[in-house]
Amino acid sequence: MVPEHTQPVPGDSPVIIEMQNLVKTFISSAGEFTALQGINLNLQEGEFVAVIGKSGSGKSTLLNMLTGIDHPTSGQVLVRGVDVYAMSESKRSLWRGRNLGIVFQFFQLLPMLNLLENVMLPMDYVGMYDIDQRPKKAMELLALVGLEEHAQKLPAAVSRGQQQSAAIARALATDAPILVADEPTGNLDSQSASKIIDLFEMLSRQGKTIVMVTHDPSMTERTSRTVFISDGELVNETIAQTLPLLTHSVMKELSKRVKRLYFQPGAVILEQKKSVGFFYMIEKGKVDIVLKERRSNDVVISTLMDNDFFGEIELLKGGKSIASVRASLERPVDLLAISREDFLWLMEQSPLTEKAISTMVQERLEERKQTDRRKNRWKLFG
Ligand code: ADP
Ligand code: MG
Repeated sequence: MVPEHTQPVPGDSPVIIEMQNLVKTFISSAGEFTALQGINLNLQEGEFVAVIGKSGSGKSTLLNMLTGIDHPTSGQVLVRGVDVYAMSESKRSLWRGRNLGIVFQFFQLLPMLNLLENVMLPMDYVGMYDIDQRPKKAMELLALVGLEEHAQKLPAAVSRGQQQSAAIARALATDAPILVADEPTGNLDSQSASKIIDLFEMLSRQGKTIVMVTHDPSMTERTSRTVFISDGELVNETIAQTLPLLTHSVMKELSKRVKRLYFQPGAVILEQKKSVGFFYMIEKGKVDIVLKERRSNDVVISTLMDNDFFGEIELLKGGKSIASVRASLERPVDLLAISREDFLWLMEQSPLTEKAISTMVQERLEERKQTDRRKNRWKLFG
């Protein structure tokens, strides 16, 4: 579910970042290590994305590919349609300054420049604002992160949290459309961290695309999208959202086993009283749960949407479909389907998931009973 204070991105905003089959292998004296194992990821303009994963899972490496700081071993990165690795090093550097604001995991402030000068540096580099405007602009950014009183201090003279805030102000210096931040709240107390996230939310509402690496799962409540990375591979987001209690390794295994299905508006997905062989998760779109009546019209008893599931009652009770399911009339629906065998396997892997799904089954059967009772009452009075 999307919390109320986040702004869901309209489904149709343009794709701004595309990563295709991205592989990164590090070669060192210790041997080869593949940190990214074929990443495919598209981000839309205005999305506020959290990238989550354990330490060493490849989060920073992923960001370095996106910003053009490190070369992929193979695969492509397109930012606003531009192939990042097709340009020369010097062109890329200028391109980066104009298109990306970057908050590094270890800040990388220049130690001999004060905070104000550090923030002005990217403006100088890309020639943004008139020279005499720059100090004022930089000061506004420092004020935005609560550092106006420390503008003249060297980085070493302020706390790590303040250095991090200064690095965030610097990342905003050229008003770039994309903000990339590697654990930007890692050194902040929870109140300062919350302020930084407020700031990111505001920027995202203004249309900036924000990619934020974090290992704090609570942050994902504030972002419009969460991408999970595990050992250099992305976990399917629908599986992660729909079955959040699974371990990442089970999610990854399922990502490989799912079948993708697509239905036109109004198409029948499951027919009442026919046997069900799959567990379905909704990736995008809506489905109507429909009861077919012998004499009257079909009745829509509920509507399910993104990250809801169906088919579980039949798979668990071993029966035939208790209702029909069809794609809503509004738009096509994208589904992920898991075979009965894989569904039973995942329930075995995760007792918590089994419990959550069983609870859902009980609730849905109860709801169904109440609908039946209401209908019978209609018959009495009708
Ligand atoms: P995260 O940011 O998720 O903690 P990283 O992207 O920094 O993880 O690293 C992913 C993996 O790649 C780690 O196992 C790390 O040791 C390895 N790695 C990262 N950079 C290099 C490098 N320059 N040389 C060799 N291995 C590296
Ligand atoms: Mg990292």
